[in-house]
Amino acid sequence: MELVFATNNAHKLEEVRQILGDRFTVHSLKEIGCTEDIPETGDTFQDNALQKARYVKEHYGYDCFADDTGLEVKALDGAPGVHSARYAGDHDSEANMTKLLRELEKKPDRSAQFRTVVALILNGQEVLFEGIVTGQIATERHYGDGGFGYDPIFVPDGYTETFSQMSAQSKNLISHRGRAVRKLADYLKTL
Ligand code: IMP
Repeated sequence: MELVFATNNAHKLEEVRQILGDRFTVHSLKEIGCTEDIPETGDTFQDNALQKARYVKEHYGYDCFADDTGLEVKALDGAPGVHSARYAGDHDSEANMTKLLRELEKKPDRSAQFRTVVALILNGQEVLFEGIVTGQIATERHYGDGGFGYDPIFVPDGYTETFSQMSAQSKNLISHRGRAVRKLADYLKTL
């Protein structure tokens, strides 16, 4: 089955292709000639994921899925949330992490969660899938070989390493996106 994943993020494509496996050919936006920025103006992950998937369907005609993800920090009332990519600077992970670490300096509760919503448009139907991973925001960055975004400061519950220090495979097994995409894969397999 061929599907478009409404992203050009190489990390995400790799993660999703690993999870969906050989039965599915996943095309990126670039591969279908979509190079413009797709509007993401919703107030929720669900709105944004649907907005992206609908855009691809309406403008390019492909069945597709889109994800929207963010980091929700309890002591900050769920921020950065839908603003995760632009919390401090536009897709500037270093600036975003610096701001978050500063905001949490005097807060004892460092619990947080990543949340992903995946919106699928297939055969005229819209279906949503959600994945959550809970954890703690570290007091400083811990880099490894992998990851992106807030990974160097997120320690998933039950682990001592940050997402950045884990292998892609280990991260996929427990991550927000991994969980949401496995639900998507389970759904696709029933068709
Ligand atoms: P997006 O909606 O998936 O593009 O995610 C918004 C922002 O959340 C990204 O720009 C990253 O800063 C952050 N983010 C999303 N997924 C991850 C992840 O797996 N690890 C760390 N940060 C992430």
